[in-house]
Amino acid sequence: MPAQIISGTEIAKQIREELKQEIAELKEKHNLIPGLATVLVGEDPASQVYVGAKEKASIALGVYSERHDLPADTSEEELLKLIDKLNKDPKIHGILVQLPLPKHINETRVLYAIDPKKDVDGFHPVNVGKLMIGEPDYLPCTPHGIQQLLIRSGTKIDGAEVVVVGRSNIVGKPIANILIQKKDGANATVTVCHTRTKDMAFHTKRADILIVAAGKAKAITADMVKEGAVVIDVGVNRIGKTPEGKAILCGDVDFDAVKEKAKAITPVPGGVGPMTITMLMLNTVRAAKLAAGLA
Ligand code: NAP
Repeated sequence: MPAQIISGTEIAKQIREELKQEIAELKEKHNLIPGLATVLVGEDPASQVYVGAKEKASIALGVYSERHDLPADTSEEELLKLIDKLNKDPKIHGILVQLPLPKHINETRVLYAIDPKKDVDGFHPVNVGKLMIGEPDYLPCTPHGIQQLLIRSGTKIDGAEVVVVGRSNIVGKPIANILIQKKDGANATVTVCHTRTKDMAFHTKRADILIVAAGKAKAITADMVKEGAVVIDVGVNRIGKTPEGKAILCGDVDFDAVKEKAKAITPVPGGVGPMTITMLMLNTVRAAKLAAGLA
């Protein structure tokens, strides 16, 4: 039987409805409006699209949105000054610096300059450490989105064998960390694979839940997946263009073949992608509540 399709579009919509309600209540009962500042340096078209989508989502939910678009030749010092100003601004609860930054700017220095309380991306080492010890203020957006897809699709995580392909700081490592916690929505046994893994199929075939974040189109084929597994495809690969010039996207999983074997699977697009910005909104609301002593 073909797999259940886990729709990130639908689940993100549900969460946004819940957030809209919560934001309206915060405004009514506490006169609190969550505020998000986005910072974009340069004119990278993909980054402009991502920042535009974050601004649009903020406005749709009633989050105060402030956009700082800076020229590509902005110095690191100027950028750090802006971060410092945003760190001190009480209207702003979350700061998002769109990556990648131009080469002359040290990304690490900039990300470390964000006040951890306003680090709604969850990339600051303070927040990475808090996640590791099981006391997070914020979960990083894409891994948190993956966990929500699993929970809200009714997937049993407790005790499951989870295999993660990829060990990046933004997806692979944090999702592994989230799912090994001794908590509801976690308690899994997690294996992490990467390019030095000796026999990847040996591991992927054992997975009750397979999470793939390799950035390699169709790297996971049907013979690498256990019958009845739940497959979360994080990869976004541009494999061509339509005659109209629109990018054709595919994931890291051979969707058509794997859906015949899996119990459930996320599509690309429409799977993990829509969850990421939604979890950014959730973190911004949480940041506002933490700042106001309401969380
Ligand atoms: P990344 O930093 O490039 O990391 C890729 C990881 O996959 C690395 O750890 C690499 O291993 C491993 N890997 C690559 N090819 C492999 C293979 N053939 N076998 C086993 N492991 C392999 O990528 P990322 O930032 O985590 O992103 C991964 C994918 O997810 C990309 O397609 C990206 O566009 C997508 N993504 C989507 C969203 C979303 O919101 N939808 C968000 C973030 C990322 P080594 O460490 O050994 O090099």
